[in-house]
Amino acid sequence: MNNKIWRGLGVSAGRAAGPTWYLKGFQAEATPKTSESRSPEEELSRLQQAVTRTEQTLTRLEEQVKVEQGEEVAQIFVAHKLLLSDPAFIGEAQERLQKGQLSAEEALREVAEEAVKMLRGLEDPYFQERAVDVQDVLVQLLKSLQDVQEEGADLFPPTGDYVILADELTPAQTIALPKERVLGFVVRQGGKTSHAAILARTYGIPALAGVAGDWEDLKLEKWVELDGEEGWIRPSAENRIVFADSGLREEEISLPDNALQDMTLAANIGSPGDLPLVEKFKAQGIGLYRTEFLFMGEELPSEEEQVEAYRQVVAACAPQLTVIRTLDIGGDKKAPALGLPQEKNPFLGVRALRLTLRRPELFRQQLRAIWRAAASGPTAVMFPMIATLEELDQAKEALWAAREEVLQSGHDVGELQIGMMIEIPSAAWLADQFAAKVDFFSIGTNDLTQYMLAVDRENTELADLYQPYHPAVLGMIARVSQAALRRGIWTGVCGEAGGDALLAPFFRAVGIKELSMAPGSLVKVRAALGKLALSPGESESLVESVLACGSAAGVREALESFLSRQIV
Ligand code: PEP
Ligand code: MG
Repeated sequence: MNNKIWRGLGVSAGRAAGPTWYLKGFQAEATPKTSESRSPEEELSRLQQAVTRTEQTLTRLEEQVKVEQGEEVAQIFVAHKLLLSDPAFIGEAQERLQKGQLSAEEALREVAEEAVKMLRGLEDPYFQERAVDVQDVLVQLLKSLQDVQEEGADLFPPTGDYVILADELTPAQTIALPKERVLGFVVRQGGKTSHAAILARTYGIPALAGVAGDWEDLKLEKWVELDGEEGWIRPSAENRIVFADSGLREEEISLPDNALQDMTLAANIGSPGDLPLVEKFKAQGIGLYRTEFLFMGEELPSEEEQVEAYRQVVAACAPQLTVIRTLDIGGDKKAPALGLPQEKNPFLGVRALRLTLRRPELFRQQLRAIWRAAASGPTAVMFPMIATLEELDQAKEALWAAREEVLQSGHDVGELQIGMMIEIPSAAWLADQFAAKVDFFSIGTNDLTQYMLAVDRENTELADLYQPYHPAVLGMIARVSQAALRRGIWTGVCGEAGGDALLAPFFRAVGIKELSMAPGSLVKVRAALGKLALSPGESESLVESVLACGSAAGVREALESFLSRQIV
C-alpha cells in the first residue's frame, strides 16, 4: 500500500472498498476495416437489419429500466432509439454506403466519430456527455453487425463483489451488470449528467467520474477504496473488508416502527433479478410484478419456467404480498414470439387482457403458473387494461378454470387475492360495481393519465400535456378509492405517480392503502410520508384544495404549499 490518491468528481454518494475489476469496453476500432467485397446494396441491407435488431435491444433495456428505476430514467433508451432514426446519423451512414467502398461498420464508425468529435468540442457539458450516447448506440450497432451477444455475465466475473473501473461506461453496460455485486463505479471519463452516473445514483451505488491522475497506474491497483461524495479513490489493503455503503442512512431506508400503519410502500419489479433492489430499499412486498419481460424474448416461456420465475419472487417476499400482473403485451411492449400484427393505434388496440382473452391457451398457462407459485407465499393476481365488467368476468372464469387444471395435474395451488388495474376511465367510472367483484384495485396512473387526457404516453412532443397532476386524473383516483372503501376493498397506486413524493400525502388523504414504485423511489416517498401527521380535518382540506384546482400547475402549487406547511 502507498499514499497514492486519485481525485475525481463524486457523482453518486457513498463509500466502497474491495477488489477492482477493469471493465473493457467493446472495441469499436477492432471491427473489420474493409468490406468483404459485398455490394453497396448488401451493406445497406446489413445496416438496416442491425438498426432493427438494435432497436429491439434498446426497447428491452428501456422496459427493464422503466420497471427498476421508473420512466424518467428509461428515457435514456428512448433518446438512444431516436438516434437510430436520426438522418444525421443512420441517414448519413446510408449515404456513404451508397457511394460504395465502405462496409456498414466503417460507415457507421466514420459518422459516429465525427459526431463524437463535434459534441466533445461543444462548451456545454450536457452536450459533451451526449458523445457517450452516440458511442453506446454505435457499439450496439456494431455488435449487432458482428453478431456479438454480450451479456452482463461476459462483462463481469461469475462470483465475487468488485469495484468497477472503466474508461467509459455506457448505459447498456451498466444495466447488464449484476448490480448487487457491484461495490462502486470509477469511470475515467464522464460527469454528473452522464447516464451511467444517473443510473449509479438510482441504484444507490457509490460512483466517481472524470478521474484525474495516471489512469494506467490506477488500473493496476488490485484493491481500492473510494468515496463517491468527496470524490477520491485510493489503494487499500487486501484484507480490508469488502463493502459498499450507499450513503443512505439506515433511518432513511427504514421507517420507525408504527409510522405509516395505514399505508404499505411496495416495489414494482420486472423479474426475479430485481429482488436485490427490493431488499436494499426495504420494500414491503411487491405491488406490481410486470410479467411481460418473460415473454419479450425470441421464444415464449414454458409453464415450468413461469412457475420458477414467479415462485422465486413470491418466496423471497413472503410473508409480504406479491402482486403478479398477467401479461400486458401490446401498446409500447412488443413480444416478437407472439407474432402479433401491426396495429394502427397499438395503445387502443389488442393489448394486455384484450390479448390474453383472445389467446386462451397462453392465458390459462400463465394463470396455472401463478396458482402454482402462490403455494410458496402470499400472492395476488391482477388483470391489466379492463374496460368492461364482462372482461373481468371472463378473466375470472379463466382463472378458476386454470385452478381446476392445476389440481387435476396433481400440483399444489395456493390462495390468491384477485385484483384488477384501474387504468381505463370507463373502469374508474364504474369502480363501485367493479369493487363488488374483486379483492383490490391497483391504479395504473401511467395509462389512466394517457387515456384521460388522450395523450400518447410515449410522445415526447406532447410531454407537457401528459399530466398525472391534472385535477381530473386525481379526482378520478379519489373517486375510485372512495368506492373501494365503501365496498371494503383496498386500493393501491402502482403507476409512476405512486413513486412521486409530492403526491404521496394526497394519496394517503384519499384512502389509498398501498403505493408501489420503482425501488429507487422508496427512500424519498418514505421520507415524505414519515414526516406527515394528517388529521382527518387536514386530509379533507388537502383533498379539497387539490380537487378545487383547474390545472395541473395549480395542483402542484397546492401540494407544494401543503408540504411546506408540514415541514415548518
Ligand atoms: C400504469 O399504466 O400505470 C402501469 C403501472 O402499467 P404499465 O406502465 O406497465 O402500463
Ligand atoms: Mg398500464
